[in-house]
Amino acid sequence: SVILAIESSCDETSVAICNNGKITANVIANQTIHQNYGGVIPELASRVHQQNIVPVIQQALGDAKVSKKELNAVAFTQGPGLLGSLLVGVSFAKSFALALDLPLISVNHMHAHILAHFIDDPKPKFPFICLTVSGGHTQIVVVRSHFDMEIVGETLDDAAGEAFDKTAKILSLPYPGGPLIDKYAAGGNPLAYKFGEPQIKDLNYSFSGFKTSILYFIRNQEKENPNFISENLNDICASVQHSIVHILLNKLKKAAKQYGIKEIAIAGGVSANSGLRAGLTALAEELNWNVYIPAFQYCTDNAAMIAIAGHFKYLNRDFVEQDVAPLSRMEF
Ligand code: ATP
Ligand code: MG
Ligand code: FE
Repeated sequence: SVILAIESSCDETSVAICNNGKITANVIANQTIHQNYGGVIPELASRVHQQNIVPVIQQALGDAKVSKKELNAVAFTQGPGLLGSLLVGVSFAKSFALALDLPLISVNHMHAHILAHFIDDPKPKFPFICLTVSGGHTQIVVVRSHFDMEIVGETLDDAAGEAFDKTAKILSLPYPGGPLIDKYAAGGNPLAYKFGEPQIKDLNYSFSGFKTSILYFIRNQEKENPNFISENLNDICASVQHSIVHILLNKLKKAAKQYGIKEIAIAGGVSANSGLRAGLTALAEELNWNVYIPAFQYCTDNAAMIAIAGHFKYLNRDFVEQDVAPLSRMEF
């Protein structure tokens, strides 16, 4: 089967083609306009999706060297995400499918981040645990089959990506700051500064207090030295990253032990973080885990993950009707 997939949940307009489980195109148009505002502006995101969607579709079809007539289904992100952004992708998918008389496949964006692991080899074996860390979510998920997934831990407030981005904002770095913290951390000492870590029971996370403790720390230091940030940027970034990674991996260890599972994956934008990747690789050695880390292009938002999810749903003939609507919050 040849499936065209559309992702538009946040600020990436992406279209991918999946041919019998193989990704043959994955075009991603990033929106740079939000950098001027320190965060994604929903109205702007929606408008840019409208401008990008047709050229991105054309490019994906061209890259995969398929014609519209060869398509078997249209998959799309139904949610969760920004409603105005989702609306562009969902409306386009619906009219495209109607015009070409193709079935429609709804995909949950958070399932898709996890299913990105089924694009390339090696693929995790069921059951596995996936730590999904992205801009809006932080979830520990027990994955029993492609669509039997259970959230066993999640953040009670901010997501891990937000912790990175909000810290970056405190440091006056542009949005999204996660990749920049990663970059500066490479040249710093991860043990230079210590930040209080949240004491949350179970497998849940909390990052809002952590963010506040960084804010107060920086303010205090700046009272003594107004150039504190610029003079110590690498050490600050390395220490913040070290703490976030420590918090993330501690609960992951706890979950793996509790469920007796040694197949461990990470997914979502923050899984691109080099500290997290290195930390997980070290834990794999220590605890005899088989770990699965997505290729960089499948960490942050992309339609390839929507396409592979669509592929599995197509095999089950799991289609939706034309009255389907986007959901900013979508049941997992
Ligand atoms: P969600 O998937 O929860 O709806 P989203 O789609 O906006 O949110 P993703 O695109 O999966 O999120 O991830 C974006 C997040 O990943 C941002 O917070 C960004 O800062 C973070 N991120 C990307 N690369 C890195 C990195 N190398 N280090 C740390 N954070 C990173
Ligand atoms: Mg994004
Ligand atoms: Fe995402």
